[in-house]
Amino acid sequence: MSILPKFLYLFQTLPIHVTPSFFNTLRSLFGKFIWADKRPRVAFRLLTRPKHRGGLSTPHMEYYYVAALLLRLSDWSMSPPHKLWVPLEQKFLQVPIASAPWQTVSHTTICPTPHPTISPTLRLWRRYRHRLDLSPLPSPLTPITSNPDFLPGRQPSFLDIDYDGPYLTIQTCTVEGTLLPLEQLVPQRIPSPMEVYRYLQLKHFWSSLTAHQPYRSTLSPFENLCTQDPPPPHLLSLIYALLMAAEYPDLPSYTTKWEAETPPPLTERAWLDIFHITFHSSRDLKVQEMNYKLLSRWYLTPNRLALMHPGVSPDCWRCGLSRGTFIHIWWSCPFIVPYWEVVFTYVKEITSMEIPFTPQAALLHVVPLSPNRYIKSLMIHLFNSAKSLIPRHWRSESPPTIFEWIDQVSSVKEMEELHLSLENKYDIYFKTWYWWSDFVMKHRKDNPEAIARSHERRAISPVFPSETELAD
Ligand SMILES: [Zn+2]
Repeated sequence: MSILPKFLYLFQTLPIHVTPSFFNTLRSLFGKFIWADKRPRVAFRLLTRPKHRGGLSTPHMEYYYVAALLLRLSDWSMSPPHKLWVPLEQKFLQVPIASAPWQTVSHTTICPTPHPTISPTLRLWRRYRHRLDLSPLPSPLTPITSNPDFLPGRQPSFLDIDYDGPYLTIQTCTVEGTLLPLEQLVPQRIPSPMEVYRYLQLKHFWSSLTAHQPYRSTLSPFENLCTQDPPPPHLLSLIYALLMAAEYPDLPSYTTKWEAETPPPLTERAWLDIFHITFHSSRDLKVQEMNYKLLSRWYLTPNRLALMHPGVSPDCWRCGLSRGTFIHIWWSCPFIVPYWEVVFTYVKEITSMEIPFTPQAALLHVVPLSPNRYIKSLMIHLFNSAKSLIPRHWRSESPPTIFEWIDQVSSVKEMEELHLSLENKYDIYFKTWYWWSDFVMKHRKDNPEAIARSHERRAISPVFPSETELAD
């Protein structure tokens, strides 16, 4: 979306409080644009879910706003500050600005006067920190010095411990998740009674921090991002990706429906591969769209239509013998099984690979090839073409024919030829499509209609190999 950079510019230059109603209005406007004022067919949560997690990666504007504000935590953490505005904001805080996100007291204690940019940032951080588990308590970045919650540490120095940065963190005083003994904290001298007393206070503070949750010795991914100096490139996108990953930790709900209809269940890794293949299944966006609609079970089957419109028959349009469930229409209908059988036979003949005759292989790209190899193979085009014909016969009593399939694959071949010849990648084109050309030639003799269509294509095809070339 070209509008996204405009919003990101505003969110970053004006890091102020924005009401939830603003984002509700934006969401509604986006919805109207995407669905052309019609009823949405895909839930907002599925639209905004990242593609690699089975969604469509539509920008989630509220999370982009949160990411833009949390990006400021990284600017606050730099010592010395990289941005000129950081020392200005420091003037409004009672503690070092780098320590502000990790303080254990309320944000009004560290910033007593409401501030138009600091207060919304701290409020938002506190809310999303816990909601999305971005930095579980206690954090290794919790301050020991300049911490209003730890009275002996209010001074900038504690037990004369050396530390980098603007404040002493609890991470500096621990090793492998436990508090260092006093002798190791002050190794150069015999501790005075006052130092022993201070250490006991620190021990008490440590106990109160770890009373409910165990201490983790490593930084969370979010803490790591925020404290890297210099910050990693594209930090806003990285934070947004982290927020999305935390918001959508599970697989989308349609995976459960697939698993109920096509056992056995697939592993999470297998699903992630399916998502990857779906969005790289073809350079043709229509094929990608078809694959995603199939994956997300977009198509309205008789079974679903009957639920939406009482009085409509839930039975299959083709055979009329069984309920028109998703898997019946796409795979197990007795009228479509012969089509798939021929497709699988031809796929084996063309690729010399035995593919298990399963709906997962035909519909979900679960084949005995690595995702990257499958994406580059001829096989993916063969299955994509076979699937793409089923919606063309939607609500029809007749299933697709194998001639239509051959025709469809041939038109995909033409497009691939055009693209690859423009990119001067003839070698890839011939390597991928040689066995298809060979297969078409072998079957021409039995099918005059296909021969005629193939000759038409050869007439306009600049790089289609001649029969003698192929024979050689
Ligand atoms: Zn049927």
